Amino acid sequence: MKKKTSFAFVRERICLLFIFALTASCFAQQQPAKKHLPIIDVHVHAMKVNPAFATDMCPWFLSNMPGGDPTQPAPAFLATDCAEPLKAAKTDKEFQDALLGTMNRLNITAVASGDAGILHTWQKASPSRFIPSLSFSSASDMSVKAFEDSLSTGFYKVVGEIAPQYQGMSPSDPSLDPYFAVAEKLNIPVAIHMGTGGNGMANLTSPKYRASMGNPLLLEDLLARHPKLKLWVMHAGYPMLDEMIALMGANAYVYVDIAGMIWSYPLAEVNEYIRRMVQAGFGKRIMYGTDLMIWPKLLETSLGVIENANYLSTDQKRDILFNNAVRFFRLDEKQFY
Ligand SMILES: [Zn+2]
Repeated sequence: MKKKTSFAFVRERICLLFIFALTASCFAQQQPAKKHLPIIDVHVHAMKVNPAFATDMCPWFLSNMPGGDPTQPAPAFLATDCAEPLKAAKTDKEFQDALLGTMNRLNITAVASGDAGILHTWQKASPSRFIPSLSFSSASDMSVKAFEDSLSTGFYKVVGEIAPQYQGMSPSDPSLDPYFAVAEKLNIPVAIHMGTGGNGMANLTSPKYRASMGNPLLLEDLLARHPKLKLWVMHAGYPMLDEMIALMGANAYVYVDIAGMIWSYPLAEVNEYIRRMVQAGFGKRIMYGTDLMIWPKLLETSLGVIENANYLSTDQKRDILFNNAVRFFRLDEKQFY
């Protein structure tokens, strides 16, 4: 057999390498990018960005409640004095682009409520990424007829955030009852704000806000009157953990979300609250949520809390991030992969 010249040998190797590289690159092009495991964020706010109030924010900003005095200026609601505050979006377009970019990359679907114009724009830009939700706080916001008409259009699949606590009102207040009756009749899940209000909410923007109206046990009368109502407690009723556990124990269909509290209260406190709910046996009733407003990076910040939770198993994390919401909203999980 004729021995190859060194030149032919090198040429052959180069050709082989070339063919290999070409095949690898063709193969890479044919393979679709692997999708991130799906995540459902059940608590997103569609808000118009107001540049005057677009403040950067340090997560877990309620770690140091300041000593206050009524003769002094009101305490700041957010903190900005950390190494890397989350940047607030400056325009609606900037926020939408950043939001959709992250949602596509991390395969996030969001239950979103708030400004109807923004919500329609987002939904139009990416229909499969949003589950629109109709929010209101009291009977003065809209009539029962207008409420039922809005739900009957089919655009809204969920009702929330309902936040009577900011009016100093119980969620079982009779004035809200006809709305819950409509949601029960139409088989539409509802989400109620309970608990958390931040630092000095009653001193800042909501003088009617009452911590006592965030007690999850205030939902008992409402649930008794509407046994078929699908209801979840936003913010998991933080910090009323024992009452939250008692309510979930007595009412088998109540779920919670961990939005807002997950990035605003001290991280050790957040983890302990979630850990206790799981330890009490309610790992199948906790849904992931952010309470996203104007800081796009908050999606990753909040996600990191669950991903880094060493007290949760991989299965428990998947339940919180996805499976529990699929079950609660009666979704088809195949559509998310
Ligand atoms: Zn809320």
